[in-house]
Amino acid sequence: MLRPKQAKKEKIHLTKDSYKKARKLFHYLKPYRFEYGIGWIFLVLSTSVGLIFPILLGQLLGLSSGSQTSMAEAVKAIDLSNITTVAVALFVLFGGQAIFSYFRVVLFTNVTEKALRDLRYDVFQKMLHLPMDFFNKNTVGELTSRLSADITQIQETLRTTVAEFFRQIVMVVGGIAYLTFVSWKLSLIMLATVPVIMIVAVFFGRFIKRLSKEAQDQTATSNAIAEESLTGIGNIKAFTNENYLLKKFKSSIEKIRRLNIKSGLWRGLFISFMVFCMFGSIVFIVWQGLLMTQGPNPELSDGDLFSFLMVTLLMAASIGSLPDFYSGIQKTIGGTEKLMDIINETSESDLFKGTNTPEIDGSIRFEHVRFAYPQRAEVEVLKGISFTLNRNETLALVGTSGGGKTTISSLVLNYYKVNQGAIYFGDANADSIDIKYLRKHIAIVPQDVLLFAGNILENIAFGNPEASEDEVINAAKQANAFEFIMSFPDGFKTQVGDRGIQLSGGQKQRIAIARAILKNPTILILDEATSALDAESERVVQDALEKLMHGRTCIVIAHRLSTIRNADKILVLQHGQIVESGNHADLMATSGAYSDLVKIQVNLG
Ligand code: ADP
Ligand code: MG
Repeated sequence: MLRPKQAKKEKIHLTKDSYKKARKLFHYLKPYRFEYGIGWIFLVLSTSVGLIFPILLGQLLGLSSGSQTSMAEAVKAIDLSNITTVAVALFVLFGGQAIFSYFRVVLFTNVTEKALRDLRYDVFQKMLHLPMDFFNKNTVGELTSRLSADITQIQETLRTTVAEFFRQIVMVVGGIAYLTFVSWKLSLIMLATVPVIMIVAVFFGRFIKRLSKEAQDQTATSNAIAEESLTGIGNIKAFTNENYLLKKFKSSIEKIRRLNIKSGLWRGLFISFMVFCMFGSIVFIVWQGLLMTQGPNPELSDGDLFSFLMVTLLMAASIGSLPDFYSGIQKTIGGTEKLMDIINETSESDLFKGTNTPEIDGSIRFEHVRFAYPQRAEVEVLKGISFTLNRNETLALVGTSGGGKTTISSLVLNYYKVNQGAIYFGDANADSIDIKYLRKHIAIVPQDVLLFAGNILENIAFGNPEASEDEVINAAKQANAFEFIMSFPDGFKTQVGDRGIQLSGGQKQRIAIARAILKNPTILILDEATSALDAESERVVQDALEKLMHGRTCIVIAHRLSTIRNADKILVLQHGQIVESGNHADLMATSGAYSDLVKIQVNLG
């Protein structure tokens, strides 16, 4: 199917609630309100200069022109001392404005950066403490863009937009006040033209934007036709569909032409209209203004007329810029809302209210556990799972893919709440236990080991950040990782991750095992820990795993036959149900699902 590849347009839809949530941003500014307040004083000062400047400049020009009739007389009439005074005043004002602006920028930046640091921290802290289900519903991309794009938008607004917006508003309001003061008659003329033109311009501009958006979408459609055709060129040739696609492409590019011409016509009309209106209104104001400067008792001095024109021009520019600020502020409110939504999410500790810290000896009991993932509540993934695992026993979970093995290990870690039934650690119901306390006793060696940017030492110490360097090295030795680590020129300081050296699957596994050794858990979960390894590395990893498993309660998933054969209990899972259970010998004797699995392969996932 052909679908236009449109950039996903993020529509900002603001409700009353959005504004309420966005107001929380002030909460982040509050600790720095003193600094922020001083920044605002500087902003008001520099803004007033912005308004005084066109007035004084107009007076300066007015002084040089005089009201005389001939040029020669005009030159004679110039009062030099007056001109110099005004010019000096202008320089002083500019100097002042430079200083005010400097402090405004510095203070605003300071406050913004501090407030955003706090906000970033709060959001990330919240993210780290959100229940697993949240991460099923939100992609990593979306979440990181909260921390980058949305924060950047707020930064831009707090640092500059707010100040600029205020400046323009002051320009408009102060400008109107000044103009009315100078000549209310001329102001009325001005107010009847300039704002009307600006408003028409804004709406016209939006209309044209919409037209060119349509043209863009159409262009995307034609590009999609071309792209899909070229990608599937073999198919097109085989079906001799060249002409069919060409026709399709032609009608699409014809639409682009028509849309672009339409928007071109409107744009031409718009530009000529604007030019005519702008200059027309200036001429009109100058004309009317000049009439007022005539006669023995002029209503207006030359200087006032110049000031009037300068203020009018700057004001028009200010009015024109308001819609942009407005949309920037809208975006910021939208972004703030999304951040506040994260901050207001229910965190794991609110969801799992357990606070007990009973002794975790390693025994685990599942009692008729039924479970569905929260975001797919209608699909029951575990349908009444019961088993008892004594301290230091090994439980093997085998069965077809999608049977629910990983889900069981997630429930042991209390990533989710069960829907029915209960899980016990010793005699304590999992619901009553503090989850952070519980997880301190559990370690997992997953199939895909996640290494963080940093060196090998740091990556192993992830298992217990308080461990000493000696303990880390010891753990590496037990995990059969010491030798390969020392074979790198930088040893334990070798950087892993993006720019660092690439570790093989088996090496990563051994780092994960060293991590788990360092954590020294009571309960150990191995989820397909060796399934992706070649025979050679599997042997060293297996050896390390066996050392790690010794003296702990273990849950192993889809593992080599040798581990499963020695497991105290084996559960065969199919579609969320236990279809067989027992030890290797029992299960082989029944020649059911397990013995079938053993026959077809070594890896029992
Ligand atoms: P196994 O590890 O045995 O292959 P899983 O426990 O991973 O099986 O999955 C069991 C079932 O739960 C599958 O049908 C799978 O699609 C579903 N499932 C797994 N993870 C999630 C999740 N995060 N959200 C919704 N459904 C899931
Ligand atoms: Mg799995």
